[in-house]
Formats: sequence, C-alpha cells, structure tokens
Amino acid sequence: MSHRYFVEETIVGDQAVLAGPEAHHLAHVMRAKVGAEVTLFDGSGREHLARVVKIERAAIYLAILSTSTVDREVSCPLVVGVSLPKGDRQRWLVEKLVELGVTRFVPLTTSRGVAQLTDGALARLERAVIEAAKQCERNRLMEIAPPQTWNDFILQAPADALRLVAHPGMAKKLRELPAPTRAWGIIAAVGPEGGLTDEEVRAAQEAGWTAVDLGPRILRVETAAALLAGWGAMIAESADLSAKR
Ligand code: SAH
Repeated sequence: MSHRYFVEETIVGDQAVLAGPEAHHLAHVMRAKVGAEVTLFDGSGREHLARVVKIERAAIYLAILSTSTVDREVSCPLVVGVSLPKGDRQRWLVEKLVELGVTRFVPLTTSRGVAQLTDGALARLERAVIEAAKQCERNRLMEIAPPQTWNDFILQAPADALRLVAHPGMAKKLRELPAPTRAWGIIAAVGPEGGLTDEEVRAAQEAGWTAVDLGPRILRVETAAALLAGWGAMIAESADLSAKR
C-alpha cells in the first residue's frame, strides 16, 4: 500500500490537487518527485491510486490512475458522546475513536464537565481525524459534531438505536448485554472525570437509555469511550445490524 493523502475536495475526473499540510508532507517530508505514486482519499468512501505530475510550492498536481471503493466502515452508525477530558487526552480519544470505526463523535457539556472545546482545539482534533484515517486506512472521516448539552444529546438520540450510558456501579454489566438483532445503530455516552450526576443518569434512563457498568475498575473518560467504541464496533459486526448510514 502506497502512502495515503487526504484531498479536501471530492475527486471527480482524472486529476487531483493536494494543498496545505498534505502537500507539504508529500513534497517536503516524503520528498516525492514527479512520477511518484500515492493513494488519495477524499472522505467519500473511495480511494484512488494517483501519480504526481507537477510539484509547485503550495500545491501538488496528480493524475488519477485508478479508483476503487473500499469499505472499512462499521455496518451501522456508531455514535459516541463524551464529556471531554483535558489537553492531549482529547487528541488520543479522537485518534482511537477513528481507528475503532466511530462514525460520529459528540462533545458533551455536563454538570461536572471541565473542558471546553475551543476553536483552536476543534481545528486540531479535525486534523487528528484526518491523520488517524490515513493511518488506519479509513476512506470516510469520523464526524466531529457540534458540542451538545447532556439533555439535548439524550433526548435527540433516535429511540430505535441501542443507547448506552456508562456509569460505575450499575447493576447492568456491559459484558452481559445481549447483542441487538435490529437497531438503527449504537449510541454511547461517557461522563466527565468527576462522573455524571444521579440526575443526569436518571434523565437518560427515563428517556429509554440503558445505564451500564463497564467493570470493577474506574476508567479514564477516554478509556471508557474507547472501550464502548470497540465493543460497539464488534457487536455491530456480529449482530449484522442492517441499517446503513
Ligand atoms: N468518579 C466518577 C468516575 C468518573 S470516570 C464516578 O464515580 O462516577 C469517567 C466516566 O467514564 C464516567 O462518568 C463513566 O461514564 C465512565 N466510566 C469509567 N469507568 C467506568 C466503569 N467502571 N463503569 C461504568 N462507567 C465508567
């Protein structure tokens, strides 16, 4: 597999142009020359084998040699809402959720939440989504949704999805949950370091969510989110949830 590069604009026809950090990486880090072959993806689900035809200071022009649709997506929507951890742990979280196949990531505001998603942080996380998609060879980008309040998130989630909220000490254990045979998708919610309040958990349960315990150890926010994402991705494959995005 040749190196992968992300093209912002949907590729149509037999040419493509790389710009910004992707062009910089190919020209100055990889020191590619005219004639080099790379793989391009644009987030549409397709990937393209392409050859470099011209290198300029801020742009690289490529000819598309072949196109294929390669599906590395989970078989149903997999949504994870998280009351964000701080700093570098946000990036780690986003990277792992991309690798595990999450389709939509929703930053949540909760009563005990601490971190806010600044514009600068959002731009860095969006870049992290692209980097992770390059690395794990996903041809679609995980969406970072606008931040939502806890109430909006739990009330707006489709009722025919499998909706799980992680809360330590719950009688229901994740490992004992049966795989759904039919569901629109899987939606998981994770609270902040300080935990969700009883009212937040109750509100979710009243809206039809299932509160689950993830095991005897208290996990960091990002570990709990990764565990649920991995569980959801495995369950989606084994249950063959029919609805596609
Ligand atoms: N002190 C907090 C723990 C917060 S851990 C409390 O007692 O609630 C951060 C978040 O990760 C939690 O809100 C929960 O959503 C999730 N989480 C971590 N470990 C968990 C576990 N063992 N079971 C269920 N949820 C867990």
